[in-house]
Amino acid sequence: MQTNLLNLDAGGLARFFADLGEKPFRAKQLLRWVHHLGECDFSQMIDLARPLREKLAEVAVINLPVIKAEQFSGDGTRKWLFNVGSDNSIETVFIPEGNRGTLCISSQVGCALECSFCSTGRQGFNRNLTPAEIIGQLWWANRALGRDPKGDRVISNVVMMGMGEPLANFEAVVSAMNIMLDDNAYGLSRRRITLSTSGLVPAIDRLRECLPVSLAVSLHAPNDALRNILVPINRKYPLSQLIAACIRYLDAAPRDFITFEYVMLAGVNDSESHARDLVKLLNLLPCKLNLIPFNSFPMSGYVCSSSEVIKRFASIVQESGVVVTTRRTRGDDIDAACGQLAGEVKDRSKRMEKSTIRVHAI
Ligand code: SAH
Ligand code: SF4
Repeated sequence: MQTNLLNLDAGGLARFFADLGEKPFRAKQLLRWVHHLGECDFSQMIDLARPLREKLAEVAVINLPVIKAEQFSGDGTRKWLFNVGSDNSIETVFIPEGNRGTLCISSQVGCALECSFCSTGRQGFNRNLTPAEIIGQLWWANRALGRDPKGDRVISNVVMMGMGEPLANFEAVVSAMNIMLDDNAYGLSRRRITLSTSGLVPAIDRLRECLPVSLAVSLHAPNDALRNILVPINRKYPLSQLIAACIRYLDAAPRDFITFEYVMLAGVNDSESHARDLVKLLNLLPCKLNLIPFNSFPMSGYVCSSSEVIKRFASIVQESGVVVTTRRTRGDDIDAACGQLAGEVKDRSKRMEKSTIRVHAI
């Protein structure tokens, strides 16, 4: 079988070339061609000797995910739908903000973690994406967006906040992030890659040991009783364990704070007493709070908090000294906002119809 070289980071490519009896520096050349220059045709890779190019055409391929649709929002946000086989598709979103361009990448087809307010979670889980399918999203978006007039790449930041739980697809996500960081590929710094997790504690520790990028943690509730409902993985890894893992992560993190995400759900987690309880948690470590207005989707059963309630909530937390930002909803005219990424998840384990859940404040 031919090897898809898009699945391999520098280490994997070095092993691949060693098996062909080639020197390790071939890995660097290949990464430069494919990711830095966007060239996927072996016959064009002119600094590889002709016999090697011919050998590669025999034993290897560069298989990118296939674009199914592209959408443009009035606010500059762009969304791509990729066909990843068996009628499944995943989504990738580009969000321009001043001199920053952020690409939001998916890591799984669906998600098994069933957070009750998340459209991806409601669809159930189909499968993990391969490293090629993860880095392929950056490859395509980078090709579409290119460089700005100063010669810098338009994509300056990557967030692993699309469909799926990135830490539940650990190896593939780490390989793809290795390629994002590689100077011969995309050359992003660890500060400019943010991984968002719902709180898989052992995997947070693994990430700290092997590739500590910026970390965002989806908190969404200030106590275990409510978080057990909103983010069911909390039943396995409760808040005390999660906060302890975040404190450990800070030792290796490229930033000196953890970002906590908190989706604002009217009448569920947005009262003043929730805000005061949240302050007690946030004061345990250096962190920032990012409030996310809930983005609705069909049959979600939730409503977003009013802007007055969000402001009041933010000011209570801010008064305690924690920096609070409220995420501006982007791209909602093309269903590209946080939590709206649905793609198409076939053969899934659970179905939308089963699960219109309503939750009351705890
Ligand atoms: N699985 C990871 C990353 C993907 S979700 C995680 O849960 O962190 C990215 C962010 O969007 C998370 O903070 C998630 O809780 C939030 N989110 C999910 N559904 C949402 C919705 N409907 N409205 C607003 N934010 C949502
Ligand atoms: Fe999965 Fe994140 Fe959605 Fe929860 S919020 S279901 S972990 S994608």
